[in-house]
Amino acid sequence: MPRVLKFRLLIIIVCIVVIILCINALPYIQADIIGPESRSGEDVKPSPSNGPGNGKEPDETQGPVATQKPEESKLPDINDIAVLVNKTHELPSDFEPMNLVQPDVRFVSGAVNRLMREEAADALEQLFTGAEEAGFRLYALSGYRKYSYQKQLFELNVERYGSIEVANMYSAKPGQSEHQTGLAMDITSESVDFDLVEEFGDMPEGKWLAANAHKYGFIIRFPKGKEHITGYAYEPWHVRFLGVDLATKVYNSGLTYEEYLGVVPGTGND
Ligand SMILES: [Zn+2]
Repeated sequence: MPRVLKFRLLIIIVCIVVIILCINALPYIQADIIGPESRSGEDVKPSPSNGPGNGKEPDETQGPVATQKPEESKLPDINDIAVLVNKTHELPSDFEPMNLVQPDVRFVSGAVNRLMREEAADALEQLFTGAEEAGFRLYALSGYRKYSYQKQLFELNVERYGSIEVANMYSAKPGQSEHQTGLAMDITSESVDFDLVEEFGDMPEGKWLAANAHKYGFIIRFPKGKEHITGYAYEPWHVRFLGVDLATKVYNSGLTYEEYLGVVPGTGND
């Protein structure tokens, strides 16, 4: 075999070996190129699988918090004007509101509980002025009541209605009355003989009050048809101060204050 041919054959063999090596190495080269993408693909995979896992954890931690918040931690403090007081949210027997003053409004003669928290008293004065300008004469009857007074009142109502259950539809047990907050006032008019009766809601004064109280920061706290939620009979005379912003939101929602706060007692009205 000539030397030149041997050399060419050697080159061909070397080329074939190189080609074979290259072909074998190709997957590794490709892996290096595609690798980062597939890795990132793998990174995505654990995330979705972590996702539900992570999703569950926040769900488990946030879930109960989210459902408890409206009922527990989110509820306003007892000194807050937004405080919720009802049959399941009581005030301590020694709770007395701050800054009690007598609003400068017309009272039914003989009214003994005339005080309100200052911000509520100021708003009540504006409410009465607004009613006056609309041609209605409102009379205030009962504002802040001490725990001890509410206790006596409830006992009298139990005698009057014959049972605790019936009395509790019309009168709050001590500690469960909004009157102890200094943020509520019972309002009446001459057209209903200065009494606290459902008919007040059908009178022009009562209708004006229901339609306008929120503009001054008050809501009709125990609306008609919501007895199963508030736990109390319809009381068109009982207004509760919440401040203009909150009262307007509650009024526009068409909800009771319990529903608005997401705290509906359910069957807890017994
Ligand atoms: Zn009242």
